Amino acid sequence: MTALPKLPPIVSVAIRNLPKHETIPCTLALFGFRENPEHTVLAHLRGKWALGMAQKPHDFFGLYLCDRCHDIINGRSNHTEQPSDWEVLNALYRSQQFMALHRVLQVK
Ligand SMILES: [Zn+2]
Repeated sequence: MTALPKLPPIVSVAIRNLPKHETIPCTLALFGFRENPEHTVLAHLRGKWALGMAQKPHDFFGLYLCDRCHDIINGRSNHTEQPSDWEVLNALYRSQQFMALHRVLQVK
């Protein structure tokens, strides 16, 4: 596989702060968790989903998650079961749909 060129992470305050200004539900909703949208934050994809070692992902590769799901995917919970790849990709799709809907993710 050809290595991708190094690119500084694209940071967007608008993407990060969207849950502070709009009602964004948890896009992962593990175990039926769909906590209060007031607790939704942008969680960057890490681990096997990251583009490179020690490289912070672009903000548009983030998931809007409740605090409970955020703790689970970051290993800060008693839940040892991790979401499936399909669940993560579905959450990414849903998160990017919210970004596009609220015009914080646009394509030239
Ligand atoms: Zn959740």
